[in-house]
Amino acid sequence: MPRPISATISVSSLSHNLQRVANGLQQSCNAAKSVRPNIWAVIKANAYGHGIEQAVHGFAQADGLAMLDLDEAVRCRQLGWTKPILLLEGFFEPADIAVLDEYRLTISLHCQEQLDMLDQARLARPLDAFVKLNVGMNRLGFSEQAFPDAYRHARQLQQQGILASAGKMSHFARADDDPVTTAEQLQVFNRLTQSLPGPSSVCNSAASLTPGLWTNVTCDGEQWVRPGICLYGSSPFEDRLPDALGLRPAMTLAAQLISVRDIPRGAGVGYGHVFTASDAMRIGIVACGYADGYPRHAGTGTPICVDGVRTRLVGRVSMDMLAVDLTSVPQARVGSSVVLWGDGGPSVDEVAQAAGTIGYELLCAVAPRVSRATVA
Ligand SMILES: *Cc1c(COP(=O)(O)O)cnc(C)c1O
Repeated sequence: MPRPISATISVSSLSHNLQRVANGLQQSCNAAKSVRPNIWAVIKANAYGHGIEQAVHGFAQADGLAMLDLDEAVRCRQLGWTKPILLLEGFFEPADIAVLDEYRLTISLHCQEQLDMLDQARLARPLDAFVKLNVGMNRLGFSEQAFPDAYRHARQLQQQGILASAGKMSHFARADDDPVTTAEQLQVFNRLTQSLPGPSSVCNSAASLTPGLWTNVTCDGEQWVRPGICLYGSSPFEDRLPDALGLRPAMTLAAQLISVRDIPRGAGVGYGHVFTASDAMRIGIVACGYADGYPRHAGTGTPICVDGVRTRLVGRVSMDMLAVDLTSVPQARVGSSVVLWGDGGPSVDEVAQAAGTIGYELLCAVAPRVSRATVA
């Protein structure tokens, strides 16, 4: 029998979360008397660890899919996805252009090198593209000074039949924590792009869930938002849990107890004895460790559910195991179910907070050795 640990992906929760985002956008556009933006469901990094195939099914109602990896994009086409696919980093070398052409992939154009590579391209069909403006993330995109020329270059490529459309996009650095900076960055985006034709795309999860933000994009063309993390049931905001946002966990990481023992007062548990029992107590050993992707920095007190009862992790997480306090779960025994995060357990964001990281990292890091299941 394989080790009793598995990650279960709920396709209906993926769909639910997409619908939740769409409803939120619809409400803010009713308030603003505008048209609901199209939604790119962001599925980079193997759909934040949930699997490309599960995402293609779960996000069937999205207007497009966005990701980074060309192979993942090709996989989406092979799975039957016919709507647009956006490559958020565009492409990397001239040889990629044939793949873009064959699989009808939409590209982000964020640097001069990409524009230059396209000058030489021979295509069966012109490509859709978004020219990226850097409004302060300082990661990808043309500076305010360079953007007008870059956009003009894209328009030339359009006239040459290499591009079908030239849109505008950007990415906010602080949509999750600083509305003032975000509003300033949006103003920069509007100032540089509003007179230019083509679709626009600016908002990640945090910005998509902030009422009124995308409605302030000044643009005649169609608009696209790009939510990612919220679609998987994790919150983009440090101070709000997914439940409060109406999101459902799409991944449940569950395991079992493989040992139960009583320890006397003063006994230490696990490596370094960083936890010692202040009283006689019962502990359980769970078949999950950092080699499964559970964060080693989650310390004593991290929430965890055993047999449906919320209790706490104790001591250091080891490679293949971790220990839990069974004081509140006296009926627990070998084989009892343990939910590390997801349905019937803490949210991935609570575990992430206890480990000093974010839900994104935990979802992406579930190890290949963890068996996978998909439920409708
Ligand atoms: C990852 C990413 C997103 C989605 O971000 P979330 O915070 O997961 O919603 C949107 N746009 C770009 C460019 C990204 O890289």
